[in-house]
Amino acid sequence: MSQNYTLTTVGHGRLIPRKTSMTEEQLQKCTGQSSAFWLTRIMDGIYRLNCKNKITAEHCVRNYQVYCPQCKLVMEPILPANKHETPVYTCKKCSN
Ligand SMILES: [Zn+2]
Repeated sequence: MSQNYTLTTVGHGRLIPRKTSMTEEQLQKCTGQSSAFWLTRIMDGIYRLNCKNKITAEHCVRNYQVYCPQCKLVMEPILPANKHETPVYTCKKCSN
């Protein structure tokens, strides 16, 4: 089962993860008004960035830095965002 993290926008171009134990479905309901993005853990140091609107996720890859939930370093996108795939981010420190 994947862990979920909500993403809080702080300032311009930064998404800070906040750990939560809610399921993805619960998250979507809960974050309906406030947050459009959240992370799910795939493996250690590898997270999928989810959002309610995949075009917004594409925008996110270009315009935002996403921070690692574990060590708070900036993560790098490892799959290109497109209309069919949500972006995956990796933390160089935590994935090794
Ligand atoms: Zn990390």
